[in-house]
Amino acid sequence: MTGRRAAAQSLPIMAQPLAQDLPPPTRHVFGPITVILGHKSGKYPDANMMVVTGRDSRAAVDAPLCSNRVGADFDGCDLVILSHVHEDHMAGLHRLPQAAVAVHRLDWPAAASWEGYRDALGLSEAVWPAMRKKLAAEFAFTPRADAAPYEDGHVFDLGGVRLTAMLLPGHTAGHCALIEETQGLAFIADIDLSGFGPYYGDATSSLQDFRSSLERLESLDARTIVTGHHRGIYTDRARFLADLKAYRDKLDARDDKLLAMLADGPRSMASLVAERLIYPPDYEELWVEDVERRTIEQHLAALAAEGRVVAENGLWSRA
Ligand SMILES: [Zn+2]
Repeated sequence: MTGRRAAAQSLPIMAQPLAQDLPPPTRHVFGPITVILGHKSGKYPDANMMVVTGRDSRAAVDAPLCSNRVGADFDGCDLVILSHVHEDHMAGLHRLPQAAVAVHRLDWPAAASWEGYRDALGLSEAVWPAMRKKLAAEFAFTPRADAAPYEDGHVFDLGGVRLTAMLLPGHTAGHCALIEETQGLAFIADIDLSGFGPYYGDATSSLQDFRSSLERLESLDARTIVTGHHRGIYTDRARFLADLKAYRDKLDARDDKLLAMLADGPRSMASLVAERLIYPPDYEELWVEDVERRTIEQHLAALAAEGRVVAENGLWSRA
């Protein structure tokens, strides 16, 4: 523990992880649950989170950048339950070296070591060194080999308050919602219903699993739904279902866009990646090419299975 604390304290003081110049994040209280919205409604690199207080334990659900500005409510947590392993949900973990950390078994390797996170992201060797530097500097990313793996359906009993994990994979292999029954509140993390649409560009991501998770969410019985980014808090079921549908429709829109990209004849993967399916042409980040490639590959595989595209001599074309 002391080694980790020392490591955390020796990190250079970066403006972004602490972001002390920003106002304290907005809070919404639902009984024992405080929903905390990140900067710009939890837009990346920030995210939304919750602090849940029971008789015996206080747990944070995720620890995004804004957790650095929450104060005692977060700093007094003895447990951090990660909805999944991504840097934008872990940028306050370095504050709590003594707290227990829980993460779904399938995301555990990514939380436990730098190599595990690199492999889960599936970034090419060319960009990993720069990405690792960015993760440390901007997110204070600190591997937690002491994290306890949890399973689908696991119940975290905080004393009179229980959080149940519901595995909703696709975004990452171990991506989970956390559900509190007395309030009927579900934190659905990075099924964020944002205008960008679903993200499944990591090595452990899956387009097919994401589709199934979206179907399962439709029948989720919850009065309040909290997303990890952007949308924040839903208490209007009709609005939630409309946004869920628009979000799911993005998947079909990406199929259509890809088919349009193949309209003028066969294309190589490299040329499709260069044109881009999900990111705007002027958006530059270290991961863009790897993520575009993996996203396009998954759509092409699904379209090929439906007989709508074929691959020949390394070129893709419409069937
Ligand atoms: Zn994520």
